Amino acid sequence: MHEASLVASLLAIMREERDKYGPGARVSAVTLCCGALSNALPEALATAFAVMTRDTEFAGAELTVDEEPLRLACGACGEEFSPEAFPVSPVAPCPRCGEDFGHRVTAGRELYVRRLTIEP
Ligand SMILES: [Zn+2]
Repeated sequence: MHEASLVASLLAIMREERDKYGPGARVSAVTLCCGALSNALPEALATAFAVMTRDTEFAGAELTVDEEPLRLACGACGEEFSPEAFPVSPVAPCPRCGEDFGHRVTAGRELYVRRLTIEP
């Protein structure tokens, strides 16, 4: 599962940040930003996180996944918009000029740690 390797990377980041706070520090919460085009499913991330932190130093840490919607800039008129259509696709009609193709993705690809709560 793709999400398992993402969570493995996340746990490495959590460990590294926590270790800056010395022995006894623990991670109580972590927030991920997950773009609509990031190829990571929030539910799968949550499941992998629950399984991979069980009975570890991170047991009980709370995971929040913020979903970042896809944002496109129209290739014809430059209008920025979030397509309503599902599944998410860069082929979507521009609400201003109706152009279907050639849009540029301006947001939605990201996947990163937005916030870590560490208790010393
Ligand atoms: Zn347009």
